[in-house]
Amino acid sequence: MDKIYNISVIGAGHVGLVTAACLAHLGHKVCCMDNNPSKIDLLSKGKIPIYEPGLEEMVLQSMAEDRLFFTGSMEEAVNHGEVIFIAVGTPPRENGEADLSYVENVAREIASLMESYKLIVEKSTVPVETGEKVKNTIKLYVRKNVPFDVASNPEFLREGSAIHDFMNPDRIVIGIDSEKAKRILMDIYKSLNAPIVVTDIKSAELIKHASNSFLAMKISFINAISRICEKVGADVEKVAEGMGLDKRIGREFLNAGIGFGGSCFPKDIDAFIHISESLGYDFRLLKEVKRINDEQRKLVIQKIKDVLWIIKGKKIAIWGVAFKPDTDDIRGAPAIDIIDQLITEGAKVCIYDPQAMENLKTVFDDSRIDYVQDKYQAIHDADCLLIVTEWEEFRNVDFNLMKKKMRFPFIVDGRNIYSSYNLQEKEFIYYGFGKPLPSGVKSQMRK
Ligand code: NAD
Repeated sequence: MDKIYNISVIGAGHVGLVTAACLAHLGHKVCCMDNNPSKIDLLSKGKIPIYEPGLEEMVLQSMAEDRLFFTGSMEEAVNHGEVIFIAVGTPPRENGEADLSYVENVAREIASLMESYKLIVEKSTVPVETGEKVKNTIKLYVRKNVPFDVASNPEFLREGSAIHDFMNPDRIVIGIDSEKAKRILMDIYKSLNAPIVVTDIKSAELIKHASNSFLAMKISFINAISRICEKVGADVEKVAEGMGLDKRIGREFLNAGIGFGGSCFPKDIDAFIHISESLGYDFRLLKEVKRINDEQRKLVIQKIKDVLWIIKGKKIAIWGVAFKPDTDDIRGAPAIDIIDQLITEGAKVCIYDPQAMENLKTVFDDSRIDYVQDKYQAIHDADCLLIVTEWEEFRNVDFNLMKKKMRFPFIVDGRNIYSSYNLQEKEFIYYGFGKPLPSGVKSQMRK
């Protein structure tokens, strides 16, 4: 039987909660700690504060089998865990730099409460050399001469498929500087059938920033190609298919459209640009990745204007506001910028999203925005339907009904989900991204 560890996870956000639930599922005894009392209150009652498929069942099962509990007490968490994962937020500061104050706070608290050996593991995404700083902080604040190790174990899960990603990772990255830390982390992940990359702490930290930046770069690359496609009437999806079949390139993350958002890619790119600059390297490639991505959000508005000319007074229906499907997370979602531009131009915006509307209401509590509970209700009398998030329920739709409902049958498809249909035949004006324009339509954007 594999060794069972007492583990504490600090931070019960998307990463912390999924990590705690999955480690408990693997058989470890897990304490999940958060300093937000209402979150802990909910979780202790078995209620999950975020939408993540499969998470609730996993949490409830492990709680029932006494492998998982929640607490607001750092003391309880430090006493419980021989291994302590730090999974608190690392949000961006104004200048793009990662705000590491939450990580520093937690490191200090752990240090002051440690009574026996602890392995402290960075799970949060942090700039290179944070491990050094965590180690120094613990040395400064530890009360007695308690032994400890620091390790880096970045997380690669994606919201919406977080449980699957955690349990079936492409790789597990372990950054260590002691044999004991290596043995413990190898033991913990033993039952996951995944390649393990063991390296020094700095390289592990860099693997995370480099991976996210590379994926973002793929998206911006195909978006740049899509701009060329639009100018010459080529089809970016065919280009992506032709490129993606090359094993050295791969088809994933080559989808043209509105671009990336979320709580990770934009902030991690900013943090990587910033840390590189502070190390004396100007990472201009990443600056361009970011610029191309920002431009895609503006391009959506241009596409609408291309057909409707004036946006003021027009009803624009938006399907999907979450930063990606299968999540209610709207942090850094392209929808926020796009809605902001639309209402600034005087549009009446009507929104439908299966999960994320309550979160969006905390950003836009505006009389020019209608929130409705049904996708077809959203397009009633609309001058344009804009697809922002590719939820599954938007893929198979009744185009005849849509045409009847809309004032003007015009679709801007920010995720190219209808690109395989001949919507012109169904008498829609259809704009995808990087797709040939309908014949007879002369775009202002081609100039
Ligand atoms: P989050 O904001 O959803 O959760 C962070 C949690 O930490 C919150 O519940 C907060 O209350 C808690 N917290 C903050 N300070 C604390 C303290 N002093 N003590 C106890 N709890 C504290 O963040 P997240 O999305 O889970 O991301 C966490 C980290 O993981 C970030 O560095 C992020 O970049 C990284 N990451 C996120 C994802 C993702 O898809 N969300 C994927 C991989 C990596």
